[in-house]
This record gives sequence, structure tokens and C-alpha cells, in this order.
Amino acid sequence: MAQLDVREKLGILADAAKYDASCASSGTTKRNSAGGKGIGSTEGMGICHAYAPDGRCISLLKILLTNSCIFDCHYCINRKSSNVRRARFTAQEVVALTMSFYKRNYIEGLFLSSGIIRSPDYTMEQIVEVARSLREDHQFRGYIHLKTIPDADLELVRLAGLHADRVSINVELPTVPGLTRLAPEKSATRIEGAMRDMKTAIVDTADARKRYRSAPRFAPAGQSTQMIVGADAATDRDIVTKAATLYHRFSLRRVYYSAFSPIPEASAVLPLQRPPLMREHRLYQSDWLMRFYDYAPGEVAAAADPATGMMPLDIDPKLAWALKFRERFPVDVNRAPREDLLRVPGLGVKAVNSILKARKWRRLALDDVGRLTVSVAKVRPFIVAEGWRPVMLTDRADLKPLVAPKREQLELFAA
Ligand code: SF4
Repeated sequence: MAQLDVREKLGILADAAKYDASCASSGTTKRNSAGGKGIGSTEGMGICHAYAPDGRCISLLKILLTNSCIFDCHYCINRKSSNVRRARFTAQEVVALTMSFYKRNYIEGLFLSSGIIRSPDYTMEQIVEVARSLREDHQFRGYIHLKTIPDADLELVRLAGLHADRVSINVELPTVPGLTRLAPEKSATRIEGAMRDMKTAIVDTADARKRYRSAPRFAPAGQSTQMIVGADAATDRDIVTKAATLYHRFSLRRVYYSAFSPIPEASAVLPLQRPPLMREHRLYQSDWLMRFYDYAPGEVAAAADPATGMMPLDIDPKLAWALKFRERFPVDVNRAPREDLLRVPGLGVKAVNSILKARKWRRLALDDVGRLTVSVAKVRPFIVAEGWRPVMLTDRADLKPLVAPKREQLELFAA
């Protein structure tokens, strides 16, 4: 590997980390103040934004320890057979970068992942050393998110959890055949085994801390994972079902969905085109329905097209479900329980909470509901309110075009 300075390494290893969706970067045009003109820069290499467990948006240094890897996952730009420029930080270089960015107020934490070098254990040791040194040598109190390596020794993975706020293990693909085809060196059993160990450690430590305040913390922000969408033949129904299983079995905080993006010199087994970004968006909406709207995984999957297993792209999954199960509507906003109100298209959790509060004092009319939602037209066919009953509207064969968002041509030269 050629000798590179830290700035060159940062350029390579921050760029290589951008494919990980577990914390998303914001994009903008490139500007900087090099050359003495102006102040500030939008090129903070490797700085991305993520949401902390308390809901704050924080900036993280998002980098790989190295983009060299002994594995050959077809979808990955860093795979062994990829012809990319390689670089590798030492653990101490990552520590020094994190501290210097932190002291300059560029970042509030670190997101560290890595290709696998020499062996999973060796790589994990390096990742743990970064977190250990930050916490113990520098008393770093900022946020740390570590990617862990499923095949690494359990003790090393546990050490990662002692230093990190959040740990994640990528499940990569939603089906076993997909994983076997595209990441032949990875094993679904080992990945899920590592997630199970992580869950056990998180639960045990949380229990211990209830009894002894001195018990160490372990990944207090929990564990998360990422699934690649559109690199294999898995349908949206497969993906939603897999996500629900992961949430249930391993108490994950988040499943991230990353639309596969074609990489330079891609393997021939990969599709030539990326899936529509709207597909990724619909999967996040489906995930939201399971986590915040009390939909059972089977209900969300039922919103998919029965023949293709794919979510519609033109309408959101909640509306697709409502149009399919019209016998569940209309819902009386003055009497229905919370779980039924949450199923009304156009009513979010906040609006439902407001309805529940307001109806204790008076009966709500359509106008009252309209003030709580962006589109009263979307809500009308699905509710009964004081003075409003949709009569035949709910069952109309042409209801979808009446409630679907209208396509708009954006103005090219709008002010
Ligand atoms: S193990 Fe990770 S870094 Fe290595 S090729 Fe597979 S996805 Fe890429």
C-alpha cells in the first residue's frame, strides 16, 4: 500500500464509508475557504449527521479504519477483487483525528466501520482499541457508533459494547439465498448469532444497572442493522418480514434500508440499475407503521401487491392498506379506539393524540380534523365526524385517484 498522509487517507476512507446508510450524510455543493477566501467549508470529509437516542441531530466523523478487505461481497466497493485505491488508518490516527475534530467543534461523535484485514478478530481488536483509547486515555464523552464483525470473538464484541453508545451488525441481505449468492463468505447464522449475543449482553447489563449503579453501561443506544435493497430478488414483502423478525428477536433499535447503488466495475451478478429511491422511502414508511402505528408485520406485508410482493410506489403503504381493507372504514373520530384512528390515512401519531385529547371535551367535526392534517381530502373517505359521513365514498371503485397525491411538475425557474 502506498504511503499516504492522513488527509489523503481521510479522503479515501470517508468516501468508502458513505455506502453505509446507518447514519446518513447530508449533501450539498462543494465550497471551501482554502486560499484565504471567505470562511468555512462544506467539504468536511467524513462528517455526517445522525440522530442521537434523545432525538438530537448530531454530527459524526464517519470513516472506515481501512477499505481493504479479505472478503469479496459482490455489492461492496471495498471487496477484495475491487480495483479501488486502498488506505488504512492506525487506531491512534483515528483517535487523534476524532479528538482534533471534536476539539474544533466539527463533530460530536464517531461512526467507525472497517473492511476485514487479516482476520475478523484482528480487525475487531483495532476497532475496539480506537474506542478504548478515546474513552480511557482521552476521557472522550462523545457519541461512538461501532460496526462489529459477526465472526469476531464474542469477548471482543462485548468490549466494543462497553465503550460504544451504539453497535451495529449488518444483516446485509434479507434472504439466505441472497446472502449466499452475493456475500459467499458471510453466514446468516453467524450474523444472527452475533446479534443474539449482543442482545443478551445489552439486556444483562441493563438488568445489572437496575440493581447496581456501578455496573458498566453496555451499548446504551442499542443495536441496529442495515439491509441492502434491490441487489437481489427479495421483494418488499420479504424485506418487511425480515425486518419485523429482527426487531422481534433481537430488540433492534433501527433497521436501515439502503437502496443498492451500482458501484464502479461492478460484479456481473449485480443488477445494472439501482432500484428507485422511492422504494427505499416506502420501506422506511412500512417500518414506521410497524414501530409507531401498531401494525402487525403481516398487515404491512398485506399492503404489497399480492402478485409481485412489492409496495406500490405511487402511494404510501398506509393508504395502500386502507384502500385494500375498506371494510375497516369509516372510523368514527369521536368514538374509535386509538389503534383504529392510527390506521386512517392522513392522520399521524400527533394528530391522533390531539383528537383523543380534544374529543374528551366536545364532539369533533370534519373541519376540526382538517386542522390537524395536511390533506383533509385524504382523510374524508375514511372517517365519520360530527355532521360528516362519507356515505358511498369509502367504497367507490375510483377512490384511489381521489386520495392519491397529485403529481406536480416542478417549476424550473421558480424563485
Ligand atoms: S466484509 Fe464488509 S467491507 Fe468486506 S467486502 Fe464484505 S461488505 Fe465489503
